[in-house]
Amino acid sequence: MRIDLVTGFPALVAGPLDESMLGRAREKGIVEVVVHDLRDYASDRHRTIDDAPYGGGAGMILKAEPVFALIESLMKERRYDEIIYLSADGERFTQQSANALSMKESLILLCGHYKGIDERIRLSLVTREISIGDYVLTGGELPALVLVDAVVRLIPGVLHDGESMLTDSFQDGLLDAPSFTRPPEFRGMRVPEVLLSGNHEEIAAWRMAQRRSRTQERRTDLMEQS
Ligand code: SAM
Repeated sequence: MRIDLVTGFPALVAGPLDESMLGRAREKGIVEVVVHDLRDYASDRHRTIDDAPYGGGAGMILKAEPVFALIESLMKERRYDEIIYLSADGERFTQQSANALSMKESLILLCGHYKGIDERIRLSLVTREISIGDYVLTGGELPALVLVDAVVRLIPGVLHDGESMLTDSFQDGLLDAPSFTRPPEFRGMRVPEVLLSGNHEEIAAWRMAQRRSRTQERRTDLMEQS
């Protein structure tokens, strides 16, 4: 998979892309994430990418010209499955959206900033708009990292033990079961005996029961959907 991340603030995404699972996936060549600096496509010597809003009001707006110039130059190189604008008013990002996006071959992620972006970018370049939740962040960089992380970990070969993702919360409408590791007793708290029993059937049944009760307790909305 190839992901082209378009931002006016590339330093905001650099560290997380190089570390841990994302860094390893990139090193192994399973995913190529290329970060593009919008300021390289600004037309003035101050590398300006924002301007005041027509009609007045507070906040600056990300200009159309550098975004069109950058994205159109990318589109000359390859075909993209989606051009996604990270946006507080977009469709809500879910595990199901992550699953579907993990099957794509090429994505552009456009990070907004300031008060927002010139609407003409949304009208004629963007194919999909995604929100990571009902709150407003300063820019689309953290949402883009959230999306990249959630999507890339699903690509075969990225996680050491790929099967573990199958029982992650939200994959099948249930939350994950509680987990324990050594020692068997810590500060008076004992690991449930069944997990020490070595009986795989009983362990699987216990985990499923825990997943159901935990989901019922914490997220009845998920139980109602399934
Ligand atoms: N005025 C916009 C509004 O009320 O919807 C918020 C703009 S926000 C300060 C700047 C940028 O952050 C947006 O262009 C978008 O790219 C990003 N952003 C903020 N919150 C987001 C969220 N919940 N999900 C995805 N992107 C978000």
